[in-house]
Amino acid sequence: VATYDYDIGVIGAGAAGLTAASGCAQLGARTLLVEKEDALGGDCLHFGCVPSKTLIRTAQVYHLAGNMSRFGLPEVELPPVDFSRVAGRIRDVIRTIQKHDSVERFCGLGAQVEFGFPEFADEQSIRLNGRTVSARKWVLATGSSPAAPRLEGLEQTPYLTNREIFSLDRLPSSMIVLGAGPIATEMAQAFARLGTTVHVLQRSGQILTKEDRDMADVVMQRLEAEGVRFHLSTNVQGVKDLGAEREVRFTDAQGAERSLRAERLLVALGRAANVQHLNLENAGVEYTGKGISVDDRMRTSQKHIYAAGDVTGRFLFTHAAGYEGGIIVSNAAFHLPRKADYTLLPWCTYTDPELASIGYNEKRAAEEGIECEVWTEEFGANDRSLAEGEETGRIKMLLNAKGRPIGVQILGPQAGELISEWVAAMNGGLKLTTLVGSVHPYPTLAEVNKSVASRYLQPKIFSEKIQKALKFFFHFKGRACQPGSSG
Ligand SMILES: Cc1cc2nc3c(=O)[nH]c(=O)nc-3n(C[C@H](O)[C@H](O)[C@H](O)COP(=O)(O)OP(=O)(O)OC[C@H]3O[C@@H](n4cnc5c(N)ncnc54)[C@H](O)[C@@H]3O)c2cc1C
Repeated sequence: VATYDYDIGVIGAGAAGLTAASGCAQLGARTLLVEKEDALGGDCLHFGCVPSKTLIRTAQVYHLAGNMSRFGLPEVELPPVDFSRVAGRIRDVIRTIQKHDSVERFCGLGAQVEFGFPEFADEQSIRLNGRTVSARKWVLATGSSPAAPRLEGLEQTPYLTNREIFSLDRLPSSMIVLGAGPIATEMAQAFARLGTTVHVLQRSGQILTKEDRDMADVVMQRLEAEGVRFHLSTNVQGVKDLGAEREVRFTDAQGAERSLRAERLLVALGRAANVQHLNLENAGVEYTGKGISVDDRMRTSQKHIYAAGDVTGRFLFTHAAGYEGGIIVSNAAFHLPRKADYTLLPWCTYTDPELASIGYNEKRAAEEGIECEVWTEEFGANDRSLAEGEETGRIKMLLNAKGRPIGVQILGPQAGELISEWVAAMNGGLKLTTLVGSVHPYPTLAEVNKSVASRYLQPKIFSEKIQKALKFFFHFKGRACQPGSSG
């Protein structure tokens, strides 16, 4: 039997790699974790979810302070934002969370952590810091990087990505954002709230293109009302460095040639899988421009080499990366065959209002030819929303022919938290009658979940047929008041 230095070697210490490494190590597999940066945690901790959500919260507080009169409070004149202090808060939050992802913690779990740039020597071993290290199985979890589009002038023009934007030393007076996906939209709102003049250029006619248009449009309208300027259906021709400013040339929706100038340019046009520098060819691992191809057990073209997270180019979320890392633990260490299933993968865009989703939306149902009924409820009808002054929003529930939910989208305050009830309900196969029959505390935003389900069930419970039956059995006398007859 061949012997190896490790049972499992994991490359990349982000959500996917950390989950895979900690799980395998805790199951007693001799585990190696290799990371190229000098700290564990990956993009989510250092340049993604954590800094972005910290910035969003800071921007929200500043925005609320600037809108005190909406809450019956005296208006205040706010001093401008010192972004170096905002960046300091972001660093503090990262530092605190970093402790959960420390080398000591992983060593305590039993995993050996090494820093360096690994390259596959063959399908079983890597070259790392001048040594050859072998493992029976490998996990590729190297994540993704901001995609650099082929755009005239971009190479000569300084621009920001998610790697630089959270550590700026001062707030830009103006910013052009290329792209209107979740990262672009979240950053556009946060910087606009802090005082930056923000323009967003988007190729398609909708922002957040994965989402249903009616929901995405409400997000856009809110951002527009806060001062963000959107240029949809545009075609960016090129960019130019003008010294103190950057210029973006584009054709607008009418085909007219236009240009915009701003102090900063943020490029958020998608992500590229980190497949370079690993010498994957030596290991015989196949990949495409999108990322490393895997089957539903997260196995690459080499059955003993797995891949998880952004590097697979599929669902670019931390929780998807963690889920896939867990699938690998089952398959590679537990030897318990487990397949990934994304039917109920939720996600959330953390704009204000937030837009959260699970299962099908109308767009995807139509694409797949799935017939469904759509039920909605507005946040304006929720007492807590009104008390909070957060009445913009809507919950949308898609039901199949059997009256079972196949998807829910929530656009509203704390939608990312509210979707969790549907995560539990849909994963547990809960019936809508159970949801409606359960008592929710009053007044809470989560009552929208119950309200939308009631909207569907109420006409069935209070139908004429049921009224007739009750009249018959219990001799009910029917309505005590007719509309227009009172007074
Ligand atoms: C601005 C922004 C905001 C985001 N917000 C959210 C959010 O709110 N919620 C959410 O779910 N997702 C969010 N994401 C997405 C999330 O960050 C990613 O989906 C997640 O980090 C993917 O985890 P991963 O383990 O696949 O990759 P990563 O976290 O990127 O980890 C990969 C690791 O591999 C290392 N590595 C790369 N190449 C090599 C190599 N050759 N050798 C050794 N190590 C290597 C990297 O240094 C890194 O540590 C956001 C992303 C961005 C950019």
